[in-house]
Amino acid sequence: MDRYCVFGNPIAHSKSPEIHAAYAAQTGQQLAYEKRLAPLDGFAGAVRAFVAEGGKGANVTVPFKLEAHKLADALTVRAQAAGAVNTLVFGPDGIIGDNTDGAGLVADITVNAGVPIAGKRVLLLGAGGAARGVVLPILEHRPAALVIANRTVATAEALVAQFGALAGPGVLSACGFADVRGAFDIVINATSASLNSDLPPVPAGAFAPGALALDMMYGARPTVFMQFAASHGAVPRDGLGMLVEQAAEAFLAWRGVRPHTGAVLQQLRSQL
Ligand code: NDP
Repeated sequence: MDRYCVFGNPIAHSKSPEIHAAYAAQTGQQLAYEKRLAPLDGFAGAVRAFVAEGGKGANVTVPFKLEAHKLADALTVRAQAAGAVNTLVFGPDGIIGDNTDGAGLVADITVNAGVPIAGKRVLLLGAGGAARGVVLPILEHRPAALVIANRTVATAEALVAQFGALAGPGVLSACGFADVRGAFDIVINATSASLNSDLPPVPAGAFAPGALALDMMYGARPTVFMQFAASHGAVPRDGLGMLVEQAAEAFLAWRGVRPHTGAVLQQLRSQL
């Protein structure tokens, strides 16, 4: 049976094994998928050991996404753009690094939430690894504007320098939270503030009436960002759909078939 795994540290919390088991059952694919705790100073060795055991591919989560980017022998365009890798494919030509986080987020927004990005004003909060991975997939959907707001403005400006040529004139810009102006149709929280129950200091006026407010974090209860957004007229959404969709994209990269995600998302939601 073809074998896959997810590498992380810690890894006990990972929902990836149950997601991929459900996708395999649904699509009739024969595969095994396990969690692997990689030592903090031993990620490359853990990957090479799994390849030697006959592994076909792997997912990569915190804190190894940058190391996976370095380890790969070749990168997909979206992994190059993201500067990080969450999916590895082991083939005859070596280790291919991919990044499915951005495609997962965009699928959750446009398909699951049913909100088109084309022509919309989008505000992206944060400029870390997760934010960097979603800029290209969002721009590919041709928003009217994509504003990246970050605590450290220089990091957001570096993303504008990297991706500006791919956007139309005036579409992509960067600022600090205090300089966010106007209202947005889609507001994405890609900061890690929610991990500490903190609220990024986004102005209340940033949410257009009925705006989609998506926090990449997920949990049993709405995050402070989701609560703040809902109290200012937005429709809150957490990052569970993004998780399920990035896994479907990885499954497609490995198996050549994209599973349906709806039932798996519902099942995970009921278990939170
Ligand atoms: P990084 O550490 O790479 O980046 C953190 C970002 O958050 C930076 O922009 C940082 O700003 C900002 N930040 C941190 N604390 C605060 C704060 N208190 N107020 C305002 N901004 C803050 O993290 P990642 O990009 O890897 O992850 C971000 C989030 O996305 C996490 O919650 C993670 O769990 C989630 N995620 C969810 C996924 C899913 O499938 N649902 C997939 C990937 C990530 P600065 O640059 O100034 O330090």
